[in-house]
Amino acid sequence: MCNHRLAGNDKYICVDCLMQLQRTHSHLVDENPIEKVFWYHTPIEKAVSWFFYEGEQSRHILYEMKYHNRPNIGKYLGSIMAEDIKSSNYFDGIDIIVPVPLHWKRRIKRGYNQSYYIAKGISEATGIPVNTKIIKRIVNNPTQTHLSHSERQNNVNGIFKLKKPELIEGKHVLLVDDVITTGATTIECAKSMMKAPDVRFSIISLAYAGPHFYINPDNPSAYNQLA
Ligand SMILES: [Zn+2]
Repeated sequence: MCNHRLAGNDKYICVDCLMQLQRTHSHLVDENPIEKVFWYHTPIEKAVSWFFYEGEQSRHILYEMKYHNRPNIGKYLGSIMAEDIKSSNYFDGIDIIVPVPLHWKRRIKRGYNQSYYIAKGISEATGIPVNTKIIKRIVNNPTQTHLSHSERQNNVNGIFKLKKPELIEGKHVLLVDDVITTGATTIECAKSMMKAPDVRFSIISLAYAGPHFYINPDNPSAYNQLA
């Protein structure tokens, strides 16, 4: 991103550029603003995003990860995000990691599902297994980028199909996405998987593109008082 040479231990992104990604600190607060995005639509346990989708650095790295055939950036960021968030016991009780699937046509065109690589990185850091057989994307819906909030919700209706409900019955599932904007895709994915009995969900994404909020990592509980 900065065109400087990587130092000895750096991979894919230098320490300075990594610092430029503005952290949400959402894992430090119960009932954080990202969880509230989902509350009205679907019962979830927890949700976090690691950094805000704001500024040149965050756009650049996500673009590289998604469109420039560099899936290992996703794996790397997934693992350091999980290492960072692990201290808050976020992953306790989670049984299985499921990346939000791409339609096979889009996956073939792009060469990979970036969320699968983020999931692999999280799995590496936590030891929780990833499973991609549980749910399929059966509709290759157009990109959400230029749609309004309500258009996004219509655009995702019925796009997923639960294939293996028995694999998540009674389990706590961690759904993985690259960027959460309105949450419409993630909500639809969770709703489809809820057809399995007694399943619980938490959500994690690298980036959050919703309205900005501020959590002070040195005093995270103050957020609740201000909200
Ligand atoms: Zn750099």
